[in-house]
Amino acid sequence: MIRKHGLVVGPFQCNCSLLVCEKTKEAVLIDAGDEFERIKKLCETQGVTVKYSLHTHAHLDHIGAVEGLKKWKPETRICLHRGDEDIYKNLVMQGQLFGISYNPPPPVDQFVEHEETLRFGEHELKVIHTPGHSPGGVCFRFEAGTLGETPTVFSGDTLFQSSIGRTDLWGGDQRQLVKSIKERLLSLDEETQVFPGHGPATTVAAEARDNPFL
Ligand SMILES: [Zn+2]
Ligand SMILES: [Zn+2]
Repeated sequence: MIRKHGLVVGPFQCNCSLLVCEKTKEAVLIDAGDEFERIKKLCETQGVTVKYSLHTHAHLDHIGAVEGLKKWKPETRICLHRGDEDIYKNLVMQGQLFGISYNPPPPVDQFVEHEETLRFGEHELKVIHTPGHSPGGVCFRFEAGTLGETPTVFSGDTLFQSSIGRTDLWGGDQRQLVKSIKERLLSLDEETQVFPGHGPATTVAAEARDNPFL
């Protein structure tokens, strides 16, 4: 099984998750968005090796800890969809817009693609490309029986409980976002647990039924 540890990081309260293969202690991070020292401490406490630092997209609140992470453990691979490469490279400019200063981020190690499988420890996850909130927005899906009894998806800022991502930032497109959600998330098993990039968890069934934006 995979054990999930959650941290809410930074001024934008991003949900950062550390997912650990219990048997091998190999792990992945999802959205190491800020507060590197807290993330580092969690990794040390759990005694894990972080293979991938996965990012649902490249907005500042989802990538702010990569610099620290990469300096600490250069072997950790930073993964992003190519559609968000420009936004990623412009972290300093993103920060200026919100009055936060950053150093330029280290290069992306691996560009992930729709339906690509990534493996860590004895487990694997699938990438789902869900453009709309940003061009390279992705979700990460785990099969039933790995992170819980039901399937699980990490939805970034694409889908929230009773809401969807904003589309007024770089490359945002609301029609495309709704299309992505309907075709690639609501089509998943309705029992699927959804862990958004901000706020509480939900399920595919609940959002299909109640989300006023869909
Ligand atoms: Zn975002
Ligand atoms: Zn966000």
